[in-house]
Amino acid sequence: MVTTTDTATTGENDPAVDISLPRGLLIGGDLLTQSSGGTHGHIYPATGQVNATIPLAGATEIDQAVTAGWEAHREWMSFPPARRRELLFDVADAVRENLSQFAQLNTHDYAVPVSYAATAPLLEEFLRHFAGYVDKPHGASTPVSGSFDINLIEREPYGVVGVIAPWNGSLVVAAACVAPALAAGNAVVLKPSELAPFAAIRFGELCSEVGLPAGLVNVVPSGPDGGAALVRHPGIRKIHFTGGTATAREVLREAATNLTPVVAELGGKSADIVFDDADLDLATAISAHQGPLMQSGQSCACASRILVQSSVYDAFVEKFVATVGAANIGDPFDPAVSFGPVISESAADRILGEIDRAVSERAGELILGGNRVGSDRIGDRLAQGYYVEPTVFAAVDNASRLARTETFGPVVSVIRFETEADAVRIANDTSYGLNAFVHTTDLGRTHRVARQLEAGSVWVNHFSDISPQGPYGGYKQSGFGRTGGLEGLHEFLQVKNIRIAMR
Ligand code: NAD
Repeated sequence: MVTTTDTATTGENDPAVDISLPRGLLIGGDLLTQSSGGTHGHIYPATGQVNATIPLAGATEIDQAVTAGWEAHREWMSFPPARRRELLFDVADAVRENLSQFAQLNTHDYAVPVSYAATAPLLEEFLRHFAGYVDKPHGASTPVSGSFDINLIEREPYGVVGVIAPWNGSLVVAAACVAPALAAGNAVVLKPSELAPFAAIRFGELCSEVGLPAGLVNVVPSGPDGGAALVRHPGIRKIHFTGGTATAREVLREAATNLTPVVAELGGKSADIVFDDADLDLATAISAHQGPLMQSGQSCACASRILVQSSVYDAFVEKFVATVGAANIGDPFDPAVSFGPVISESAADRILGEIDRAVSERAGELILGGNRVGSDRIGDRLAQGYYVEPTVFAAVDNASRLARTETFGPVVSVIRFETEADAVRIANDTSYGLNAFVHTTDLGRTHRVARQLEAGSVWVNHFSDISPQGPYGGYKQSGFGRTGGLEGLHEFLQVKNIRIAMR
């Protein structure tokens, strides 16, 4: 395993590195600092400097974590439901007590502005919500035709499940997957990306500190090798994968080894439709936040295709460019900053390459950004950080590569349309189907359009705001299965039918 400490300057003395970053593997309640998967020099993207060296899980540690998970699962299920529910509430309380630490760790993880690092409150909310399901009925009993037999339909935990998180949301994944998995009775092996391990490790520590059985939540930061070992492990009964579409194909191939079922939460190329009856100021604010600004466009829910009706096209574009252009770019630890860097040097290079390609292919007209952010704007301390300007292309052709592929950066396409039918056709003309956004004040249009959009979530006059009550997931190549809602809980339960003869 290659370590990046050899090539990057250490940032251990950087003022941004002012708290002790958790590093290690949490297995069976122990924090391991040595492992078989090598080490990784974690780079803080705002400075391009290493801020911690972390051990990575290899196949040996994955195996230990799965074994610890099975022991913990048996202990967990031996507790009365009320005790399990109270312990999950205790985890939620502990998360609440550490909200500011989690916000800091999120920022250390991937340089998301601390002003936006709001995923721990979501984690608390999901924990409380799903804790409430522990003592609720999971099954049913039904009559059977032709007899008086008792027919029970029960839902049981899988045992030990693997949860694989992308770098841009380890706590969101903890919320949307770990909380329902535990409430359903499973133990979890959570694999955060090596690019963003800290908040996930701290979450695992809290689970142990409040008294969950040792090994109920194991946290094994690693790269693709550790992820593959987890998916292939015969003791893993279900995989919940969140990440890119190409990686999902590999995960499905690996899962075929043991025919392990997989939930896949993948990427998107979401349409954001602005109709001529929309509140343009609100539509602009939502589209700017949901498009290039939030997490520098590095969100599965990025509104990367902004479809605008012809009669308001010019007015919208003017407002939109002014709003996006006014983003406060800078140090992610500064609470006034709303726009930070992208995750890595290679991501910055890839995004800038996509911008150059879109220009040379005349995919649209570049009307804002398109370059690395200069040190005149962010200062010398951040000059080696991976800052790419918020970038807007107008008059984009929906058939272009720019409009077809997930850029996963602060780059959006504005596309003009004439009629409602055109908007729906263009929005659906993509291989993805995660989110769609609609801006309108017409109730009839809201219903008509929302029902025609091929997307797992449709947000009307709203940004993407996942909640424990809302099942979230993709249509088409954005994946299958759901997080959140009863559907999200059921992903972590398997169905058993018990029939008792009554003679
Ligand atoms: P990625 O696909 O590169 O990695 C995701 C995770 O999979 C990481 O933990 C990685 O280490 C692991 N992994 C890589 N190769 C693996 C393999 N062969 N077997 C098992 N695990 C493997 O994605 P990323 O760059 O971390 O995240 C960005 C992607 O995630 C984007 O496409 C984004 O849209 C998507 N995403 C989706 C959602 C959602 O809810 N739908 C949420 C956040 C991010």
